[in-house]
Amino acid sequence: MKVSVDRSLCYGSAECAHRAPEVFAFEDGYGVVRPGRAETTEDPQVREAAEKCPSQAIGLTE
Ligand code: SF4
Repeated sequence: MKVSVDRSLCYGSAECAHRAPEVFAFEDGYGVVRPGRAETTEDPQVREAAEKCPSQAIGLTE
């Protein structure tokens, strides 16, 4: 599974960084995928972060 954040959609709620801190960080007011973590294994926390992102800025591709 590959994860990404579309910065143009993110409005900086920081929820992703709280839900899955090993994969997401909060930098300069935006959620970001930590370096080297874009290719994640099937991780329920990442999926939950994507589903609960209030701006639907987190993309998952299988
Ligand atoms: S949860 Fe969504 S809106 Fe909030 S910081 Fe993360 S990507 Fe941005």
